Amino acid sequence: MTEPTAPARAEIVVDLDAVRHNVALLRRHVAPAAFMAVVKADGYGHGMVEVARAAREAGADWLGVATLDEARALRTAGDRGRLLCWLAVPGERYDDLVAADVDVSAYSVAQLEEVAAAGDRVGRAARVQLKIDTGLARGGATPADWSGLVAAARGHERAGRVRVTGLWSHLVASDDPDHPANAAQEAVFAEALAVAEEAGLEPEVRHLANSAAALLRPAARHDLVRCGLAVYGLDPAPGHTARLLPDLGLVPAMTVQGRLAMVKEVAAGSSVSYGHAWVADRDTTLGLVPVGYAEGVPRAASPGAEVWVAGRRRPLRGRICMDQLMVDLDGDRPAAGEPFVLLGPGSSGEPTAQEWAEAVGTISYEVVTRVGGRLVRRHVGGSVDGAGAR
Ligand SMILES: *Cc1c(COP(=O)(O)O)cnc(C)c1O
Repeated sequence: MTEPTAPARAEIVVDLDAVRHNVALLRRHVAPAAFMAVVKADGYGHGMVEVARAAREAGADWLGVATLDEARALRTAGDRGRLLCWLAVPGERYDDLVAADVDVSAYSVAQLEEVAAAGDRVGRAARVQLKIDTGLARGGATPADWSGLVAAARGHERAGRVRVTGLWSHLVASDDPDHPANAAQEAVFAEALAVAEEAGLEPEVRHLANSAAALLRPAARHDLVRCGLAVYGLDPAPGHTARLLPDLGLVPAMTVQGRLAMVKEVAAGSSVSYGHAWVADRDTTLGLVPVGYAEGVPRAASPGAEVWVAGRRRPLRGRICMDQLMVDLDGDRPAAGEPFVLLGPGSSGEPTAQEWAEAVGTISYEVVTRVGGRLVRRHVGGSVDGAGAR
């Protein structure tokens, strides 16, 4: 006997058709530049392996991740395409990644030596991409150290230990296309490319642009763009894309939804949730949403954020708890079990990740990446086998 499947208390639904649609659209937009789908941090909370497959199906030439473990997980899941990772600490193990044709980034001569040694052990030239710090002051060789890194890489290349496949950097303010850092970094990058090519390096790809730059600064596209947020259908430069682009038609892929645990009446003067931070100014009804900050809902979002219930947006009332939060149903009395949508594409009136971000003064990247905890994640919109879950 199988029990009937109960509808989820609360879940993250990820629309892989939206991912495919976004990747196809972005690829067309940036051509002839090649396209990398960035799937780090569990695909920005959307599921790394599933998003990676969908992105490949839609033609992503490259995948990008931060850590070596993320790259390893993609190879273990069967991905065989071009794949770049860019964040490691000294002493990490590169051997299996080099053997699996993963491109690894080198920020320093010491790191390059570690990668080359891995290539020696597995008997093949490691695919390495050199990163220049053009102004973010995060990872990458400083301009002062760049020619030394390039010279070391060229030496290893001549010795057959590495193959330098890429030269790259990352922007400070691509979400603000008029920020002077953009042009300054593009100039430093051009100079770094010239130094590397002068030294005899012949990379397959030169790349600088993330989502915002790929969309808003064609000069930054070079051979390849690295798009994360836009793959998930979110706006990487709120306020600027609307001004500078015709509607691209990106579709947000994530919906966080579930069913109310309870609906109750409260009288005027009743106080709600921890600390009694909200007092009802009239008789009203409340819906109990069974998710809280343990699911990654920012506690600071109340008051301010809204949840879609029974055809309307409903304001949060009182403090968000670890497991649950309350919304004001304003006298409406849907039954317990009524569906709610915490965030989604916005196409039916529900709040978006961008709106949740604005409610707490952050960016949509953080909202979708943190959402999780006990939420079940369900992928819809087909799979690599064409066996749709819908
Ligand atoms: C995360 C990341 C990206 C993707 O940035 P988006 O703004 O999400 O497109 C690109 N490059 C690097 C180095 C990153 O760390």
